[in-house]
Amino acid sequence: MLVAAHEFGHSVLMYAGGLSLSWGHKGSTNIIMQSVKSSTPEYPVKGSIDLMKYYNQEKVSANLFRRVSDSTAMEIDIKRLIWGAQITWSK
Ligand SMILES: [Zn+2]
Repeated sequence: MLVAAHEFGHSVLMYAGGLSLSWGHKGSTNIIMQSVKSSTPEYPVKGSIDLMKYYNQEKVSANLFRRVSDSTAMEIDIKRLIWGAQITWSK
């Protein structure tokens, strides 16, 4: 389910911001090779995990696997989805 949500999220990010946002996983990976940048941080120890970012696997903390299920779409990406839907309101 997380993979499906992530892959769908690519279409939202592509529409809203193009390749660098989508294929670049919001700046966390290189666009072409999809490799995680050395500057990319590890998974956050607490708080939300951005569904559309990659995290540095070399900096994985012990509680990663318990926390992956905490991955969620960020508010900005939900706004991008709504913006991209081009909803028109009728009276
Ligand atoms: Zn991806």
